[in-house]
Formats: sequence, C-alpha cells, structure tokens
Amino acid sequence: MSLPLAANEVENRLYINGQFVPSSDGETFTVKSPYSHEAVATVYEATEDDTNRAVAAAKAAFPAWSALDPHERGAYLSKLATLVRDSHTELATLDALCMGRPVSSYFDAHYSANIYDHYAQAGFDAKGQTSLNTKGHMNFTLRQPIGVVGAIIPWNVPVMLFAHKVAPALAAGCTIVLKSSEKAPLSSLKLASLIHAVGFPPGTVNVLSGFGNPSGSVLSSHMDVRLINFTGSVATGRQVSAAAARSNLKKVILELGGKSPALIFEDADIEQASTETVMSMRLLSGQACIANSRIYVQESVAPAFLAAFRAKFEDVKCGDPLDPATTQGPQADGIQFERINHYIALGNEATGKTGAGAKQQQPSSTTNSHGNGNGKTSGFFIPPTIFTSVPETAPSMRDEIFGPVVHINTFATEAEAVQKANDTEFGLYASVYTRDMDRAMRVARALESGTVGINCTSPTMVGDMPFGGYKGSEIGREGFGYSLDNYLETKSVLLRV
Ligand code: NAD
Repeated sequence: MSLPLAANEVENRLYINGQFVPSSDGETFTVKSPYSHEAVATVYEATEDDTNRAVAAAKAAFPAWSALDPHERGAYLSKLATLVRDSHTELATLDALCMGRPVSSYFDAHYSANIYDHYAQAGFDAKGQTSLNTKGHMNFTLRQPIGVVGAIIPWNVPVMLFAHKVAPALAAGCTIVLKSSEKAPLSSLKLASLIHAVGFPPGTVNVLSGFGNPSGSVLSSHMDVRLINFTGSVATGRQVSAAAARSNLKKVILELGGKSPALIFEDADIEQASTETVMSMRLLSGQACIANSRIYVQESVAPAFLAAFRAKFEDVKCGDPLDPATTQGPQADGIQFERINHYIALGNEATGKTGAGAKQQQPSSTTNSHGNGNGKTSGFFIPPTIFTSVPETAPSMRDEIFGPVVHINTFATEAEAVQKANDTEFGLYASVYTRDMDRAMRVARALESGTVGINCTSPTMVGDMPFGGYKGSEIGREGFGYSLDNYLETKSVLLRV
C-alpha cells in the first residue's frame, strides 16, 4: 500500500486558540497503518502545558460565544456541516490509514454532517419554564451553558464522536477542548482545519492529539473544565470519573463499552436475523460498542441459524482498507490484535473446541479462514470467529473483546433468554427477533439495555432517539435532541410580584 497522502498534506499540529501550533516541547508520536505498518504521520503530542493553554483559550472564548444568539452560533455549525459533507473522501481515507476502517463501509462524514445541521437549529431549544405555583411569585427557570467542556474520544468512530461532542456543546453556548485518540488523530485534525476554515472565534473549539497521560488526565482533572464528556473503555471511564471527582466534581458523561445480546426466537425470520447480526459484527471488524457479540438462539432453530450466520459471517474479503472491494479491514493496532487473540485463546480453553470456527490469525498473513486476502502484508487481521456452547461464566463471554469474535449459545424459554441477556455488567444495545409482537414487547421491557431493536439491530441508528446504556455501559445519554441538556445548567429565578 502506498500512502495516498503526502506527509505535508496532513495537518499534524495541535489546534489551540484558533491556531495550529506544535507541542510546547516539540514532542511527537508516529501513527502507523495497521494494514501495512508504514508510518502514516508524525503528530505533535499535547503536553500538560498545551492542555492547560487549550482550556484557558476555551475559558477566554466562553463569554463571547455564549452571548451569541442561537442563530449566530447555528450559522457556524451549518457551514461546518457543509465542509464535513464535502470532506467525506478525505475523512474516510484518514480513518482507513490510521485504524484500518474499510472505506467501503464509511458513512461517518454524512452522518456527522447531519448532526451539525441538527444542532445548527437546536440552540433554540435551550428554553426555561415559568411557574405561578407559589403565592405572590412569578418564578421562572433559565437554561444557561455550563462553561468549558472537555471531550475525550476513542479511535473507532472518531468523526462521528467528534460531532456528537462538539455540535451540542457549541449549540448550547459552551466552548470545548477535545482530545482525540492517539490511534486515530488525523481525522480530528482534519475536522480542526474545517473548523478553522469556517472561522469559529479563536478558542471556541480546541483540538488536541495525544495520550491519556498527560493530556486526557489533565483535562479530566482541570478545575476550569465544568463537564467532561468521555467515550471509551470502562477502565478508562473509571479513571476519568475518579479524576473529575477528585478535582472540581465536574459533571461527567461516560459512554462506555458493551457486550450486546441478540435473542433469536424460533418464530424469527432466520434469514433476516442472520444477515443483520452479521452486519452488526462486521461493522468496524467487530470493534463497535454496539456489536452483537452474544447471540442467543432458541434451541429448535439453532442449527439453521448457525449455518446461515456462519456462511455470511465468514464470507468476507479481508484486505487493504482503501480498496473499495475490502469488506473487513485489519484490527486497529497491535494492542487490539493481541487482546483479541488472547480472548480467542480463552474461548478455545472454555469451549475445548478450536474447530468451532475459532482460529488465531498470525500477523504474517492476511488470509482469512476462507482463504481470502492477498497474503502480501503483515496487517493485523483476525478472521471471523464463532464460539458455540460457551459457558456463561467464560471470560470471553463476559468481557468486551472488541473484535470479530461472536458467541452463539442456545435457550429453551423466553425467561431463560432474558436472564442470559441481562447477566452482564453492560447494557448498551440488545435485539430481539420474533414474529410474536406480544413477546417482543415483553422482552423489550425486560431487557436491561439503553437501546432495544425489535426485528432490527445495530448499526440501525435513528437520529431522534437517545443513545446510551444501562448499568456499566453509560452515564448519561447522547443523540439528536437529547444532548443539548447535557451542556445546560438550570437556574431557578424566584420573582416576588
Ligand atoms: P480507551 O478507553 O483506551 O481510550 C479512549 C480515550 O481515552 C483515548 O482518547 C485515550 O487516549 C483516552 N485516555 C486513556 N487513558 C486516559 C486517562 N487516564 N484519562 C483520560 N483519558 C484517557 O478506549 P479505546 O480503546 O480508544 O476505545 C474502545 C472503547 O470505546 C470500547 O470499550 C468501546 O466500547 C468504547 N466505545 C463506546 C462507545 C459508546 O458510545 N458507548 C462508542 C465508541 C467506543
């Protein structure tokens, strides 16, 4: 693979106070392609000082930005939406280079542009209430922006998560410092250049590349950051939450992991259920928080479902993520590759069945279990892997693996299906496939999950529904129409009349 971008075409500096600047100590890190292992870019790494300067810039920009009316703020967001839409190809290329996302499955730029467009109008929803319920009073509430927001995003869908953090914060009148993931910083830097091109007031949006330490932890514990909005793993979420508690008790939104179940009842459309659960697992090579990594099938249809699922799941074309024909890219990096193989080994141990579709792929080959792939590079490929009859207590069954590894178990009764689906610390996305609508509604109600798909599954995303999770998957909700509240304080004004 030869890189389609010359080094000088990629923005690699930090975006602080309306300017692209190198890091204060000149420190950089190198991003490598998980497909070819070639260096994609050398990027400046935010120091503690850089992070503090970004927060200071956001704090200085806050009074003027929050004083604009929603029309004025919305005009900036509308322009950004257009530029993001027009940058689809470049954003897809940058994410393909950094974390192996196949360009064939890239919809993030258009989806993100819709988010900016939505929030260009949504600032008007920041309205309070009036109350005449106290004798001698005419009371009312004011909804006011919370202040400087810190946002930390992971690598798997950086363009979409950038929009989910930045658009509602700006619409509410907040200013923001966003730290991208060290694994995929380039699309966030491209977005920073679009923000610069729109001409947002300096300091309104600041974009930092770097690691959890120091930049992420400085942001989480900064006394001038009033809200930290984090998407990433449970382990890091705990650290962000603890840092927030130790510092100024800033408001915390955590969007964390999942181990999302799909329940397939015997009256389900097996063709549809198998196609859609495969699509869910195929997205981002299984590196999606909403992937159907646990599938429970009613005993009588288990053989038919398994056969249909296996045929589709294993029918992939592994290869260069920049090749439009590729349907499965490499895992994001060597850490992901090692982690997934570790869980495959644990799955083999728990089931005693390496022959059940579970195979470890060595980095020296790109060929999957169907023999697809060009075998020329040492990309971090893991073939689609299926475990059946897995003990519910097995680590691979309980932990988020974040790879193309699916567990398919059976159930006898509806109660057993619900009990197994809920037997997890996660609660992000669950699906139920059945033609019996009474059962579908009972199960939807019983599932401990932020989203339940009835005869549909992830990545179905409906714009105006909240996105979030039960239990350890989430604190808070995001999504069109649901995020603005996160960025607003509510003030009661008591007026004696
Ligand atoms: P991660 O937790 O390793 O890193 C996420 C971000 O946190 C990165 O930017 C990283 O640099 C930063 N970070 C690391 N240590 C930090 C610290 N001590 N303080 C502050 N920031 C720190 O997660 P990841 O591997 O990048 O992403 C995968 C995880 O994200 C999975 O668990 C996945 O389920 C989750 N995810 C959740 C959603 C959702 O909407 N719920 C969406 C996408 C991904």
